[in-house]
Amino acid sequence: MTEEIAAVDSYRRSVHAVVEEVDDGGVVLDRTVFYPRGGGQPGDTGILRTPAGDVRVSDTFKRSGLLLHRIEGGNLEPGMSVEAVIDWERRHLLMRTHTALHALSAVIWRDFDAKVTGGNMEPGSARMDFELDAISMDFGRDVERVLNHELGGDLPVHVHFLPRLEALADPDLIRTKVNLLPEFIDPIRIIEIEGLDKQADGGTHVRSSGEVGRVAVTKTESKGKSNKRIRIELAD
Ligand SMILES: [Zn+2]
Repeated sequence: MTEEIAAVDSYRRSVHAVVEEVDDGGVVLDRTVFYPRGGGQPGDTGILRTPAGDVRVSDTFKRSGLLLHRIEGGNLEPGMSVEAVIDWERRHLLMRTHTALHALSAVIWRDFDAKVTGGNMEPGSARMDFELDAISMDFGRDVERVLNHELGGDLPVHVHFLPRLEALADPDLIRTKVNLLPEFIDPIRIIEIEGLDKQADGGTHVRSSGEVGRVAVTKTESKGKSNKRIRIELAD
């Protein structure tokens, strides 16, 4: 099992590690700062620094429980020491974008009682779908104003690990369908934007809502009955 440093410290940019396995899918390390894609957040990119030179990592993902770094070339072998270094600027954009999405979902839930039906993000931009019956650009502008007001409050963002039974009993977590997480997941990782949002989540986030900066709602679209899409971009 790879020690996943991003789950507890999303600001760590590099770590010394040992290669455990190499196959055509990628490289497994004993520990890593790379985030494997999931929950709408893309996998990290970066390099594995070796005495023989840098090896590019083009994606990070999980397969059959293994955390794989997809590499391009390089003669890596089990037992080798490497330094795993993520593309920090890209990751930090993803952290800001991911935290913006949580704030957006919280605002839509609080003010319009609508749950999230799906979402996806790129560094600096994202979309999220909601169980809303109607949407308009005026609605989008209202949401943008409220969202920026909340983010500008500079709310602290916390990572907790909560025993499964406690998470299941928390009314704030029920809207995010915490009960549907596989039973072997215990404790459950929780991301809390203080006073605004709490959800079970595996992704990487910034430490405060102020670090997200301003967000623009760039588009509103209908994707069918009770399924409306909001697109956002980081504006700072
Ligand atoms: Zn999330």
